[in-house]
Amino acid sequence: YRASLGKLKNAPTMTKDGTPILLQANIEFPEDMTAVRRVGGEGVGLYRTEFLYMNRPTPPTEEEHFDAYLRVLQAAKSAPVTIRTLDLGADKQVRYQEISTATNPALGLRAIRLCLKDLKMFKTQLRAIIRASAFGQVRMMIPMISGIQELLQVRGLVNEVQNELAHKAVRFDQAMQIGAMVEVPAVAACIDLYAPYSDFFSIGTNDLIQYTLAIDRVDDSVNYLYDPLHPAVLRLIKMSIDAAHKSERSISMCGEMASDSRYVRLLLGLGLRSFSVNPESLLEIKQIIINSDMTGLSRSANKLLRLTAHVDIVELLEYINR
Ligand code: PEP
Ligand code: MG
Repeated sequence: YRASLGKLKNAPTMTKDGTPILLQANIEFPEDMTAVRRVGGEGVGLYRTEFLYMNRPTPPTEEEHFDAYLRVLQAAKSAPVTIRTLDLGADKQVRYQEISTATNPALGLRAIRLCLKDLKMFKTQLRAIIRASAFGQVRMMIPMISGIQELLQVRGLVNEVQNELAHKAVRFDQAMQIGAMVEVPAVAACIDLYAPYSDFFSIGTNDLIQYTLAIDRVDDSVNYLYDPLHPAVLRLIKMSIDAAHKSERSISMCGEMASDSRYVRLLLGLGLRSFSVNPESLLEIKQIIINSDMTGLSRSANKLLRLTAHVDIVELLEYINR
């Protein structure tokens, strides 16, 4: 089975009826690029940079960031690499800084909120990302955007850093794309309003499900309620995809849902044309895409937006995957 999957490595990612699909990889460390290349991933749709910060006594220096990014870009050849800015929170702690666990950490000071509070630390990362953009196709992605103001602030900071670097004659890609993650339902509901300030979107289902259903993703006592097939989740995904395409913005999915073989056809039916998945799942996902016919998929997928009974949902999903 593994060997037959291996043959898919260089095959174009396209449905049976010829719809091209972008299939990228999620990584956490530069070393993960070995696995990405082994399976023929077309670049990186999510590079989680928080691992640069964890398990060490001090935050990483600009050079440490830069070295890591350069290694990923070199391994990616000229394929796009989507570097996500720091996504720390009470669930992802570091040693040198106590992140408040106030009352509700998932709703508190995390991810971009934390970065915009600690501009010195954030600008160190921005400088490294912007410098790295001279050496490959870098896209910068912002986690847990909730307000449009945050995107404007990030764009302002990027301009500031780019001007500083230009003054020192440091090279960078003027046209580096900056995109927002769709993790907070507010963004999913108003993609058209965020689109003027976001060059692309990527749906982070791990958090989108948590926030839509009010289920703490790390609390075992409520995980039975964590449901990617809840119609509210599926409707927000569909709304996001439709609105992004209408606004002429690309939209991908980098949450675990995209790496789950059970949901690939459903997501294709909801209009998703770009997936970013774990390298271990990439060829399996590719095989499903190659064996999928879009005819009728959209109709069946949209039926799922109206189902509430578990048996009906399971039955329709089986039909979609048959
Ligand atoms: C997500 O929330 O779906 C996501 C990709 O980000 P993380 O899992 O790192 O929070
Ligand atoms: Mg997330």
